[in-house]
Amino acid sequence: MLLVCSRKCGGTLFRALFAEVDVDRTGIYQDHRVTQPGYVCLNCGAPALDLGEVPAALEEEAREDEASSIVTADVLCPVCETMVQLDAGMECPNCGSPLEVG
Ligand SMILES: [Zn+2]
Ligand SMILES: [Zn+2]
Repeated sequence: MLLVCSRKCGGTLFRALFAEVDVDRTGIYQDHRVTQPGYVCLNCGAPALDLGEVPAALEEEAREDEASSIVTADVLCPVCETMVQLDAGMECPNCGSPLEVG
């Protein structure tokens, strides 16, 4: 986890919005658990962002890009024999014949 203020105010302290705090019988803090992600900057009150989550999000995006590029394929038009790159369900740009990928 790497929290940063979404306003980039430079604040380095944050507050977990959803946390359970364990105390001993005299009420002194012992431990805590964050029950839901959600933090605010203590300096300016803006929501905080977890930069530790960003690489995972980027990786997911990259995987989606990969998946969508698989849909595109080079297909030889059976009518005019033009090599066309297309998505599923397109027509040949040269002669207008419907083409199927694969
Ligand atoms: Zn801030
Ligand atoms: Zn064609």
